[in-house]
Amino acid sequence: MNSIYKVKQITSLYNSCNQCGLPVINCICSTVARIKTNSKIWILSTEKEFYRPSNTARLLKLINPDSTELFLWERTKVPEKLIANLNNDIYEPFLLFPIENNETKFNKVESKMAGKIPAFIIIDGTWKEARKIFRKSSYLENLPIISLKPSFKSIYDLRRGSQEGNLCTIEAAIDVLRISGEDKYSQVINDFYNLFLKSYKAGLSGHKIISINKK
Ligand SMILES: [Zn+2]
Repeated sequence: MNSIYKVKQITSLYNSCNQCGLPVINCICSTVARIKTNSKIWILSTEKEFYRPSNTARLLKLINPDSTELFLWERTKVPEKLIANLNNDIYEPFLLFPIENNETKFNKVESKMAGKIPAFIIIDGTWKEARKIFRKSSYLENLPIISLKPSFKSIYDLRRGSQEGNLCTIEAAIDVLRISGEDKYSQVINDFYNLFLKSYKAGLSGHKIISINKK
């Protein structure tokens, strides 16, 4: 899906890489150590997100390509592939969504039925967009909701108006993988995400990040 959308530039000096979203001088695609999580991460996204360089779903797809799927959300069309996935018995889907005043805070995900593959659905976009998508998508209605009580504070500061206490898309994936027993992969993604943030900030002013392979 990435290839048909041109990621916007964050500096007038350089094009953005269509895979990691960073200015090409700071592209981190060649440093990525790909992983394959057991859990699936399904991301439902507005079209706008595909153009936003600050999008982190793109990063997750890059580092965890086989277990991450991106689905386009449209006002007038249902995402048929996602719905087919939801109806597929091999998966046990959960919706990650912050609910206010919600009673059930998950600390650990226990699969109810042995042998099923956990699938975590994350709605991408601003908080306002995510709420709208949730309200307008009846196929999400009956899914069990995991309302994360983050084990860390969001460090995502690439967008104005990011909600206090809410995690961005990749942070939500990092957290849910941790509580579903994939701590090791969660850490790998976290390191990659930190490199992304650093490279993004350097890129804003057209600077090349020095010693990209070192933390
Ligand atoms: Zn790149």
